[in-house]
Amino acid sequence: MTDPRRQLPSIDALLAGPGVARLLAEHPRGLVVKAARETVDAARVNGGVTPSEGWDAAVEAAVARLAVPSLAPVINATGVVLHTNLGRAPLCGAAIAALTSVARGYAALEYDLGRGTRGSRDAHCRDLLVELTGAADALVVNNAAGAVLLALSALARDGEAVVSRGELVEIGGSFRIPDIMARSGARVVEVGTTNRTHPNDYDRALTPNSKLLLKVHRSNFQVTGFTADVAVVELAEMAHARGLSCLYDLGSGLLVDLSQWGLTGEPTVPEAVATRADLVAFSGDKLLGGPQAGILVGSEQAIAACRADPIARTVRADKLTLAALEATLALYREPERARREIPVLRMLTEDLTTIKTRAQALGGQLIEGDSEVGGGSFPGAKLKTWLAGFPDERLAEKLRGNDPPIIARVAGSRVLLDARTIFPEQVDTVVAALRG
Ligand SMILES: *Cc1c(COP(=O)(O)O)cnc(C)c1O
Repeated sequence: MTDPRRQLPSIDALLAGPGVARLLAEHPRGLVVKAARETVDAARVNGGVTPSEGWDAAVEAAVARLAVPSLAPVINATGVVLHTNLGRAPLCGAAIAALTSVARGYAALEYDLGRGTRGSRDAHCRDLLVELTGAADALVVNNAAGAVLLALSALARDGEAVVSRGELVEIGGSFRIPDIMARSGARVVEVGTTNRTHPNDYDRALTPNSKLLLKVHRSNFQVTGFTADVAVVELAEMAHARGLSCLYDLGSGLLVDLSQWGLTGEPTVPEAVATRADLVAFSGDKLLGGPQAGILVGSEQAIAACRADPIARTVRADKLTLAALEATLALYREPERARREIPVLRMLTEDLTTIKTRAQALGGQLIEGDSEVGGGSFPGAKLKTWLAGFPDERLAEKLRGNDPPIIARVAGSRVLLDARTIFPEQVDTVVAALRG
């Protein structure tokens, strides 16, 4: 008996057939060839069997699959507001408008329009950051991990950077404080213990090579029980008294107080700046609700040292980021408007009845539950929410296959959709997907 795998059509034969030739009129040849090859390869793996839907239909399905971009929008029904795997902060309308207009053509990115000469990319968000945080100067780079690397390099390279063992944290996405410290060219000096670090632990560790005291905000976990740590204010004072610098890795970048909505314990950026740490580092796309960016605010001298460091060039922000960040920051001049228009803040402070109405519109069983802030912010904070529950384990997979994909929570044999992170304008789409 001949091996059926030897009967498989050649790629050329498939491409010449009328069904596939039609696809060539609509799609790039390379894409159709790739689809044909994948279809034949799949049939070979399958023992040489002709696809049940026929060759033309199978190639067409493969073309459709390959033609969709891999990075496409999804609906977040998980209730995790800052979901790192789903792209963290959705942008506000003003930011989208700003980045779109800058993307379309040229922009005065490094051009001084007044003098008609070369300008500085660093000028764009600087004044707003100074105004909103109370710092003397500011610098934007492409993410907070890069900002911390840059700050350590600028302030502690070839010297020692002292950090508490209770703050040698992993943030997720392979960002580990000791690794970043080592790469910056600073030598890591660990002090204290996991649960307790005292001022004299830092004191005893200082040598003539000490350059910096580092404070890392515990963004994504809590330490409770028999604990002690040194407040940033005290650490900054200690550093300055000894001619050293103090760097505060704040993480989240909260610009407004959310305690009125039950969200407490996360220091705001102005509070962090008030500690007099030389530099405060935070993210643009966590609680700030802007584009992915790393922001450094602090003293003129420390920011100047960062600007002059070669790492600054390797982590510089692009024009789209700067445009979106500037527009987001501008909203904070009116905190109430920022809360309404910046999606992260709107979702975190939305009232429960509105969320409930949305959950009801989804159908299913109405269940009380909790949403999460996510993104390493407000660890342990629970936000009351309303979920739509469906007793169908297979639903989650079906929703992921929807266009656009809908990402839900799975709890045992139930699928739960948290209405907090489903935008009002997405409700109809979700309802249709649930019915379909
Ligand atoms: C999230 C976080 C970072 C990293 O921020 P990215 O913007 O993701 O690079 C660094 N430090 C702390 C304390 C954080 O919470």
